[in-house]
Amino acid sequence: MKKIDETRIEELLSQLTLEEKISLIHGEGIFQSGGVPRLDIPPMKFSDGPMGVRNEFALDSWINVCSTDDCVSYLPSNSALASTWNRDMAYKLGQVLGAESRGRGKDVILAPGINIKRSPLCGRNFEYMSEDPRLIQEMVVPLIKGIQENDVAACVKHLAVNNQESNRLAVDTYLDERTLKEIYLPGFKTSIDEGESHTIMGAYNRLYGEHCSHSKFLLNKLLREEWDYDGAVVSDWGGVHDTIEAGESGLDIEMSVVADFDNYYMANPLIEAIRNGQIKEECIDKKVRNILRTMLRLNMLGEERNNRKSGTYNVPAHREVILQCAQESIVLLKNEEKRLPLDKSELKTLAVIGQNGERVHANGGGSAEIKALYEISPLLGLKMELGGNVTVKYAKGYYVPIKKQKELNWQQDSLNNNDTIDEQEDLLIAQQLAEFNCSQEEELLQEAIALAKDTEDVIIFAGLDHEYDVEGQDRTDMKLPYKQDRLIKEVLKVNPKAIVVITAGSPVEMGAWSSDAKAILWSYYAGMEGGRAIAQALLGEVNPSGKIAESFPKNHMDCPAHSLGEFGDYEKITYNEGIYVGYRYYDSYNTDLEYPFGHGLSYTSFEYSNLQVTKDESDMNNVKVRVKANIKNTGNVAGAEVVQVYVADTESSVERPSHELKGFTKVYLEPGEEQTIIVDLDKSSFGFYDVNEHSFVVEPGDFKIELGASSRDIRLSHMLQFINRYTYL
Ligand code: BGC
Repeated sequence: MKKIDETRIEELLSQLTLEEKISLIHGEGIFQSGGVPRLDIPPMKFSDGPMGVRNEFALDSWINVCSTDDCVSYLPSNSALASTWNRDMAYKLGQVLGAESRGRGKDVILAPGINIKRSPLCGRNFEYMSEDPRLIQEMVVPLIKGIQENDVAACVKHLAVNNQESNRLAVDTYLDERTLKEIYLPGFKTSIDEGESHTIMGAYNRLYGEHCSHSKFLLNKLLREEWDYDGAVVSDWGGVHDTIEAGESGLDIEMSVVADFDNYYMANPLIEAIRNGQIKEECIDKKVRNILRTMLRLNMLGEERNNRKSGTYNVPAHREVILQCAQESIVLLKNEEKRLPLDKSELKTLAVIGQNGERVHANGGGSAEIKALYEISPLLGLKMELGGNVTVKYAKGYYVPIKKQKELNWQQDSLNNNDTIDEQEDLLIAQQLAEFNCSQEEELLQEAIALAKDTEDVIIFAGLDHEYDVEGQDRTDMKLPYKQDRLIKEVLKVNPKAIVVITAGSPVEMGAWSSDAKAILWSYYAGMEGGRAIAQALLGEVNPSGKIAESFPKNHMDCPAHSLGEFGDYEKITYNEGIYVGYRYYDSYNTDLEYPFGHGLSYTSFEYSNLQVTKDESDMNNVKVRVKANIKNTGNVAGAEVVQVYVADTESSVERPSHELKGFTKVYLEPGEEQTIIVDLDKSSFGFYDVNEHSFVVEPGDFKIELGASSRDIRLSHMLQFINRYTYL
């Protein structure tokens, strides 16, 4: 972390009254903390979030100010970014997010969300990157660096094990120490050690009985003592539940969703607790120091303010990066008989079926919602790319019930018991569905079938939307909603060449039709240019190069979080599956999958050859393993391949997954071109967390290095032997 002249902090601190200190450490606005005008200390201004800067709210209530000047660039979600497997893209997208945040006058952008995708059902998976900690570590560092170049703080969230939305404010989570250290914490630790994230957000849920936003285990022992973190810790909005616990914990700023700011746990009640001796003022001083240090890092204080970066938003250069990221995020899951790409010059008529073709998604999902300057739907993207000589015919295909507009903001409701609101909502939807009688639903289906019969080239746009990929609620299964399975099956029956495009934030069941479909293209929520990128991929102007950063199981019961562990609406849950998350489980136990981790096809093909692995153990503190291979584009279009390096510990004193991702690179190749790729590994790629030693251990012995196009498509492998034993933290 950037070193700061601590005397400046002490100087300011010594001038602050207790009330002024308290002002700095809690929300005095829905999205800002208090400032101290007397000493020219400004409030800290926050905004969500991961997909762009959120619309402006009134200072003291959840009221959208409804202005026209808070539209922004809508960025691809973290799940889309992760599927690019491109670190430079993460950096560039970070730069965009940082510039837009600063442009909107913010100090802290509440992003990125990096929780592990433990189950495909988690409502916020679309906001997160992956089931794999190494992939998260590799992508999050450049993302944070890009954001923070703009004198804006990233706020990595949500520390920690925030892997479900059900009972999210209270659920108490239990997992063993090894699993915590190997799977759930590395992303956060690296965000601090290498990303140098200026701020971090505590999660809503509990861990080992303590609320994460003021957990002594997480914030004091781990974050402050072990990881030596001196940035600012912000609670999740409404994540604080106790004055003394919060006061004594490593938390610095309490934020919430209600406007009675003086009654926040770290406001008047904390002043009282200090005055009556329940807690020492020194605890508050620590928090103030962290906040002032962060402000200095952001050039928010003193003379430096004159040179603080100003940022900008909605500029064409941002949209260019967003388009590139969307293009690289698209995953070609299946392409039999080279059904894709479509040949634009041959197209006369194109049938587009399914409401996800015309839907836009920016304004949904919870706190990640965005007031986008614009969003190109796939249908719009196709029409833009095809121009006037191709007739595009559209059929809705399925019915989507319209949700009731809530009077109050859902986020404020979310801290109350809003079951009744949900029940009312469900009733309303059920009523609507009943009213929209079956014959009308049938009409939409028949219209789609007739169109598919009549037209040679058909694209079905299906998937989820932010009624399902949404904060505050998990899905109950992986099934496609709105009877889309039936639609896809029926359309494929009359037109077996129909192409399926799925837009969603997490995997869906595809078993009902996937073997009948020749081509399946996948897109996460890919931002304002997402529809254009999908169209370009369908038409071959973009060669897909994304790979899924999570496994696609056939259904959620195949997922170890459900078959072995606990998940859902409980007071307490245990992660019995341990380290066996995602492919670590599926590949170790040979589970039949829809698509494996790291899978993604291209319109060209790649040949892997000449794997060479060299090792240098001469310096015990700096063990080096270099993985080298040749990758050749053997097709006739340019393309990019994500080459993945997995490590398997073939003899170990503890149980280990069959293999684990430890490195990757993305290589761009012209037709016929061959390049040598290099992936460097160090000892951190070989160890497991030893619960007796409380550190990671690499045992001497054999390891297998595997080079693959996915976790289930290993092309080359090489044995390696370590002579020495190593430890690391
Ligand atoms: C979410 C956070 C978000 C915060 C502020 C909470 O509901 O969990 O991710 O940053 O609200 O909107």
